[in-house]
Order: sequence, then C-alpha cells, then structure tokens
Amino acid sequence: MPLPRLLVLSLGGTITMTASASGGILPTLGAAELVAAVPGLAEVAHIEARSPLKVGSASLTLENIASVAAEIIAGFAQGVDGAIVIQGTDTIEETAFALDLLVRDERPVVVVGAMRGPQQPGADGPANLHAAALVAVSEAARGLGTLVVLNDEIHAARFVRKAHTALTSAFVSDMAGPLGLVAEGRVRMLARVARPALPALEAGTGTLPPVALLKIAMGDDGRLLRAVPELGFAGLVIEGAGAGHVPAAIAESVGEVAARMPVVLASRTLAGPVFERTYAYPGSEIDLLGRGVLCAGLLTGVKARLLLTLALAGGWDRAALASAFAAYG
Ligand code: ASP
Repeated sequence: MPLPRLLVLSLGGTITMTASASGGILPTLGAAELVAAVPGLAEVAHIEARSPLKVGSASLTLENIASVAAEIIAGFAQGVDGAIVIQGTDTIEETAFALDLLVRDERPVVVVGAMRGPQQPGADGPANLHAAALVAVSEAARGLGTLVVLNDEIHAARFVRKAHTALTSAFVSDMAGPLGLVAEGRVRMLARVARPALPALEAGTGTLPPVALLKIAMGDDGRLLRAVPELGFAGLVIEGAGAGHVPAAIAESVGEVAARMPVVLASRTLAGPVFERTYAYPGSEIDLLGRGVLCAGLLTGVKARLLLTLALAGGWDRAALASAFAAYG
C-alpha cells in the first residue's frame, strides 16, 4: 500500500523558534526542517512540506488563514489525504475554527504547535507533530473538520482553547472534553461532533470586513462601545459577563450600536451557552437580545468574531447570521 499523502504548511510559532543572537527565541525553522526532525514520520506519510510564513502567531491575520485554506483546498483537489498546519499556540484556536469554516472536506485538517521550543529540554514539538500526522492520515478523524492536536489529545476546532500560558497541557475543550487521544501510535476517537451545515463561506483574496471584539468589565462606562461605529468597524462581538450581561448603564448604547451594525453577544466566561431567556434586568441577555443583539451560542468571543467576519464578507443578511450562530448554540 502506498503511504498516504500529507500536505504540511508551517506558519511559525514556538515549535519553529530557535535562540537569537540578541536573546529570546525567533521563528527560524521551516516545515521541511521540522518534519525531518521527527523520528518515524517518514513511515507515517509521504509529506509535502511548505513554509508560507515564519511569524509569532499573534501576528497572523484571517487573510493569512484564508490563503492557507485555499492552499489546503487546492491540495485536496490534487489528491492529498490530509493536511497539517503548524503554527504558534497563541492563536491556534482561531486558526482552527477559521479553517473549520473555510475547508469543508471529509479529509482531516490538523493544526499543531508546541509549548516549548526545539532547543528547550522536553521540547514537545516533535511528539506533537508525529501525533498530528497520525491523526491527519487516520480514517477515524475523517468527517470531523479541523482538529487541534497537542499533548496527545485531539480537540474539535469549535471547542478548543488555549487555557494556560506555559504548560504542555495548555489546550482544553471545556465544554466537551477532547474528542480523542493518540496512544501507542494509535488514534482513538472517543466522541464525534457534527459540523453545522452552514452555507459555504469564502474569504476571497481581499481585505476582510473589520469586526471588533469588546470585553465588558465591572463599571464599564461604554465609551469604547460607543466609539466602535465611528472607527469603521463592520460588526462587533461583545464578551459580556456571566451568561451575557453588561452594566445597565450601557444597555441603551448596545442597542444603538446594534441598530447600526451586527452585534453578537458572547460570554467572557469562555464556557457554557450565552443565555436567551432567563434574566430580565436592564443589561441582561433578554434585554440585549430585545435590542437587536445576536446570541453567540456556545462560541467564544474570538470564534464568534471569525464567523461574523466571514459571514459579513459573504454578504449574509441578519436572518442568515442568526441561524448560523443558532447552529452553534
Ligand atoms: N507562545 C507561542 C507559541 O506557542 C508563540 C506563538 O504563538 O507564536 O508558539
């Protein structure tokens, strides 16, 4: 049997970073060097390695990820069996969710990184990349959309989040747990999540509509909120407190912004659904939804922002936006 074909695209991140002359680590390694450093990888798949970017992942843009998605879609059209994206862990949850929205294929897309650089004791990059390759070629991972593999755990793009700055166990899926694990070189899926059947989303090649993300804190007086429409944003995601709440004093301003652009309400707790029908006080979820705000469902703020950006790029109307977010509820 011929080996499966994998497309590996590297964008940078700690997994690629080596010591710089002036101190600290910088992204220097490309996909081919990373692949060559993993014992046993050549027996897992025939790998085509490319390195479109070498950056810290906080500098990645949705436009970058759209072009990665296009490269993966082209690779699938040419018959690759799976794809791996290597990048920094800081924004893996966003890249994974954006790819999940943009690449609608049965074949696995796996996003991977490392918490320790290749020159640190206990570097986790090679093990993570090996596990990612096993998942990307595995039959069991087909149909699950984009997955994130670190620390031998397999996470769904819609649930995964980086929850620690340092530990190799930094990645969690608070609402569902990991979908599976890699042990003894074998991929074991423990659960499957169906991807919502959304209309196709395409990012195109131009600049995407800017969507703001605003986290609400105690005593927020609304001045940032009221500035959003004047700053040229096309949409806004609010991370409210608890189940989706803002101070009563700014509830009216939320409604005024929602009259000018789509506003989506997420929760700064990062786990659990945004409520829709429990609290009735000014600034509560019932109040805000009544003022025209859309509910992010189970999506965190950063993920709701990506869905809203791509949906606005596609020209979706309010009803289409509402049903897309409801699909994640
Ligand atoms: N700490 C990051 C990482 O794990 C840096 C980055 O996201 O680029 O790769």
